[in-house]
Amino acid sequence: MTAVTATSVIDSVEKQLFIGGKWQPATGEKTFPVYDPSNGSLLCEVGDAAAADGAAALDAAAAAQADWQARAPRERGEILRRAYEKLLARQEELALLMTLEMGKPIGESRGEVAYAAEFFRWFAEEAVRIDGGYAPAPNNPGDRILVTRQAVGPCLLITPWNFPMAMGTRKIGPAVAAGCTMVIKPAAQTPLSMLALAGVLAEAGLPEGVLSVVTTSSSGQVMEPLIRDGRARKLSFTGSTGVGRKLLEQCSEKVLRTSMELGGNAPFLVFDDADIDEAVEGAMQAKMRNIGEACTAANRFYVQRGVAEEFARKLTERMTGLSIGKGTDEDVVVGPLIDEAAVSKVTELVNDAADRGAQVLTGGTTVDGPGNFFQPTVLTEVPAEARVTTEEIFGPVAPISVFDTESEALGLATGTEYGLVSFVYTTDLQRGLRISEQLEAGMVGLNKGVVSNAAAPFGGIKESGLGREGGSLGIEEYLETKYVAVAM
Ligand code: NAP
Repeated sequence: MTAVTATSVIDSVEKQLFIGGKWQPATGEKTFPVYDPSNGSLLCEVGDAAAADGAAALDAAAAAQADWQARAPRERGEILRRAYEKLLARQEELALLMTLEMGKPIGESRGEVAYAAEFFRWFAEEAVRIDGGYAPAPNNPGDRILVTRQAVGPCLLITPWNFPMAMGTRKIGPAVAAGCTMVIKPAAQTPLSMLALAGVLAEAGLPEGVLSVVTTSSSGQVMEPLIRDGRARKLSFTGSTGVGRKLLEQCSEKVLRTSMELGGNAPFLVFDDADIDEAVEGAMQAKMRNIGEACTAANRFYVQRGVAEEFARKLTERMTGLSIGKGTDEDVVVGPLIDEAAVSKVTELVNDAADRGAQVLTGGTTVDGPGNFFQPTVLTEVPAEARVTTEEIFGPVAPISVFDTESEALGLATGTEYGLVSFVYTTDLQRGLRISEQLEAGMVGLNKGVVSNAAAPFGGIKESGLGREGGSLGIEEYLETKYVAVAM
């Protein structure tokens, strides 16, 4: 077998647009650059779609919809199953590609490829479980109530850079299973994983036109006309709350169905009765997975007074001396942030907290040299008004504050417009369940630092979003319910 190298994986990816089953150049053969965030070097150029290319992709999706929806669910499921197997077979090269464009450590990229593939396996199994109903009408003995489920129709899917493959398969999997066609637009910073995924799906037998990929440096100009077109019936978006809000407004014109996976500000609560070593382990996962660039990242640590010093000390020990560098090196655990703007934002948040009296136990600054690196950082005595507790950090910074009572902890945890995920560490089962019920979040990690699971309903409440991805609810988002009133 030939060795997988950075050059070979970059060379192996199609860099044009994928429209109606064909790789084709963008209008005017325009391209935009993709950079390696670990050193700023140019990886390659990819097709830069214009509005006309987006329109062509939607034409293809609309044209393919009727035939695709009429195919046997088993056929759709088997395409997903083959794609699942192909992703795992190519895990190594896809992981390298992901690390090159996004920066995360190679081990985490392997994990993401496996996680991404898992959505295809899960939805391959869900494709054949679409059900309906047939019941007598209660007051009319001759009448029947027939309920059937149908594909929503052509979908628009928009994904972020932080999980460039899994955020795609979490949408593509249920859309394929339900019989929807789609146009997908990955983030401009990480288009390569999605282009590679399109190639895998085509090889797995996905018919032409069912999925098109438009990479572009002008997302608003390409996507807004498609949202307002009327033929697309759904938008599924993963990204920031600010952009999500804008897209919801656009969707209102044609009353599109929407799934919105938006930002988070996860609290991480540690009670006096918690197993502190397990809490520190969970904190490392909740904070450092994806270099802190996860919507589910623990953003604020609230620790009960009796264990606050021990927790802060042990977390600081773990965060100090972590190997920072290019994610392709096997021993690196902290890769670069996505871009210079991300480093500036994290720097600003840390400086703001320090100016307001927070203590820096470790880290606190950028790393000298090329690349967008920030040191793993622990802050204590962080006041409630510090920006680091109210804004998404999206970096390797753990701000710790102390609380005394359960009700105080709950007040702090829920005092945010976000409601994606919360974490709770306690060995008191009743307290754990009581708090889990009271936390205003779509998901809770109870003595667990990672909640993501293809078989579970992922999603937020409040300004963290609408709808659920994954689990048995995931496919519902791509199905309409039709009621047929039957006279016998
Ligand atoms: P973002 O700036 O909102 O971008 C997300 C996607 O939207 C990208 O593909 C982006 O493309 C596109 N986009 C931006 N403006 C657009 C517009 N006017 N019209 C159409 N598309 C537009 O978010 P991000 O910085 O990439 O990702 C980080 C955010 O995603 C964080 O807030 C994080 O919490 C959230 N997130 C949420 C989940 C979840 O499941 N809840 C999961 C992962 C991430 P371009 O960048 O190419 O313009």
